[in-house]
Amino acid sequence: MNYWKSNSMIRIAGLLLLSLPAMAQRGPGGPPQGSAGGNGGSFLIDTLPLQALDPMEKEGLLFMREEEKLAHDVYTKLFEKWNASVFDRIADSEQRHTDSIQLLLDRYGLTDPVGSNGIGVFRDARLTTIYNDLMKKGAVSFTEALKVGATIEDLDIRDLDQAIAATDNTDLKYIYDHLRSGSYNHIRAFLSQLKTLGITYTAQYISQAALDEILAGNGRNGRW
Ligand code: MN
Ligand code: MN
Repeated sequence: MNYWKSNSMIRIAGLLLLSLPAMAQRGPGGPPQGSAGGNGGSFLIDTLPLQALDPMEKEGLLFMREEEKLAHDVYTKLFEKWNASVFDRIADSEQRHTDSIQLLLDRYGLTDPVGSNGIGVFRDARLTTIYNDLMKKGAVSFTEALKVGATIEDLDIRDLDQAIAATDNTDLKYIYDHLRSGSYNHIRAFLSQLKTLGITYTAQYISQAALDEILAGNGRNGRW
């Protein structure tokens, strides 16, 4: 089947170029990820083949499109509530993340589950439940809002780990890996602010060992 839209590669390249400052650079042993310079990401994505998409991969894309929107929506509302710049900055990053999944949906000819849905509206009922739960928690206090941020990133990293493991498509792996690097940076930002307040966050979805590795940096930069 021909899912390919000839312009989508260029659009992915452009988007990644725009968001490259947000990309973590891997140390030795990590996958290649455009760490050779500002054009590395677009050069790499330009060369990626279009591969067949199996049902698991399709579901993964549809889910991640909305899960990244969930992060955007929660942080947007938490910024309105607490007026803390950490939420504003990371909400912008999440918008780029969900946009990058949309480009993959376009590339494979999949219908976007987001469409014109506004904040807090999801096709996937699981995400509606998570959204409502986290918004309730995040309204309690600024500290709780930071914990909500950490929780979202913890969940995102777990789900992206699974999505990466479940696909052999180079373009999906590339975008997912980029999003996961963003989540590493975001969870570090939330946990750093919690630490300042004397609060320790315990991993809920990934292992504590994995979280400790992320916090230690390990070749990944601290930008978002
Ligand atoms: Mn994200
Ligand atoms: Mn994030």
